[in-house]
Amino acid sequence: MIAGRPSGACLYPIMAKLDLSSGAPLAALTNLAGLTRSELGAALRERFGLDVKQARMRASQLWRWVYDFGARDFSVMSNIGKEMRTALAEQFEIARPKVIERQVSTDGTRKYLLGFGPGIEVECVFIPNVGRTGALCVSSQVGCTLNCTFCHTGTQKLVRNLTAAEIIGQVIAVKDDLEEWPSDKADRQLSNVVFMGMGEPLYNLDNVAKAIEVISDGEGIGLSRRRITVSTSGVVPQMHDLGEQTSAMLAISLHATNDALRDELVPINRKYPLAELLEACRNYPGASNARRITFEYVMLKGVNDSDDEARELVRLLKGIPAKINLIPFNPWPGAPYECSSWERIEAFAEIVNRAGYASPIRTPRGRDIQAACGQLKSESVKKRASELRREAAV
Ligand code: SAH
Ligand code: SF4
Repeated sequence: MIAGRPSGACLYPIMAKLDLSSGAPLAALTNLAGLTRSELGAALRERFGLDVKQARMRASQLWRWVYDFGARDFSVMSNIGKEMRTALAEQFEIARPKVIERQVSTDGTRKYLLGFGPGIEVECVFIPNVGRTGALCVSSQVGCTLNCTFCHTGTQKLVRNLTAAEIIGQVIAVKDDLEEWPSDKADRQLSNVVFMGMGEPLYNLDNVAKAIEVISDGEGIGLSRRRITVSTSGVVPQMHDLGEQTSAMLAISLHATNDALRDELVPINRKYPLAELLEACRNYPGASNARRITFEYVMLKGVNDSDDEARELVRLLKGIPAKINLIPFNPWPGAPYECSSWERIEAFAEIVNRAGYASPIRTPRGRDIQAACGQLKSESVKKRASELRREAAV
């Protein structure tokens, strides 16, 4: 079911204001929504000449308004003097990504197509659970450079990395839609964030780490780092840094138990084969029985779903604090695979269960609106800068 486009304020992050007397464009406003604390402090120092202490104090106030209360303009900021509010509004704005499309699945899953400027569009998906919790699946790139053969996003060329502000913008836009402000609301639904949307997060680690810093800050959106999971296809050299910089939970897109098959399904395996990947998992900072690494395994009919492979999977993960998530393959137009039968998935799960791994089958969500794992894709294509400028001018 398509629920239609929401009305209301949806602005691109940076829009030029016009000088009312001359009609000439004023300098672009800086968008505060998406800045880290230190960026916010630096912007205040630069624009108002505040000293470090004053800037820190002002940044703390603004931080609460932006990330705890979800403020969209300065007029509501009752603890900031009127003159300062006017001065802020002349330099800054608090903008949202544009919600281009919003679809709601029959199972309650919500898929959003968000725009961050001409030609830059990504999808993100909110998956409600039973009770009042739910996970937001965010994108880290527009498209992907990797070409996993079962993944729809992989058929879209990389357009570019998302900035930290654009990653945070996805969380803010969905919190707007769920009416989850203030952030410290007791019964909030958006309780988890998973980097399992479009793109490979470890090819954009700096921005992913910055975004995690902002969304986990206890005086703002305040999601615990244990509730933030980053999924990677296996970019081994970045895995340790991810753990060190973010303390996020790690998920590995495994999908095969031998190099020959993984080379085909997840081509990055040719660069970082299974042995190296599993070694990096063993060394992932903070991994323990209380903070297990999730291994995702997509069930492809007749490709990777035999009993022998289930046994091999258990053997490979021995000694790693692991959870296994079996993902029924989500089809997309032209996909070269089929999903394993339910009986096959259960037989595979039974072997994995007997080895001590609990509830491993991930129920597909939002399939009717192409919102399930691996179905995300936007129409964004890589364009020349001149084309983008021409579009922006229209
Ligand atoms: N690039 C990262 C994160 C995004 S993909 C990664 O590959 O881990 C998120 C998850 O969806 C991955 O486990 C991916 O392997 C899985 N996935 C991709 N396409 C799928 C499909 N068609 N059906 C089921 N799962 C899929
Ligand atoms: Fe990229 Fe992940 Fe899809 Fe592979 S599974 S193509 S890494 S988004």
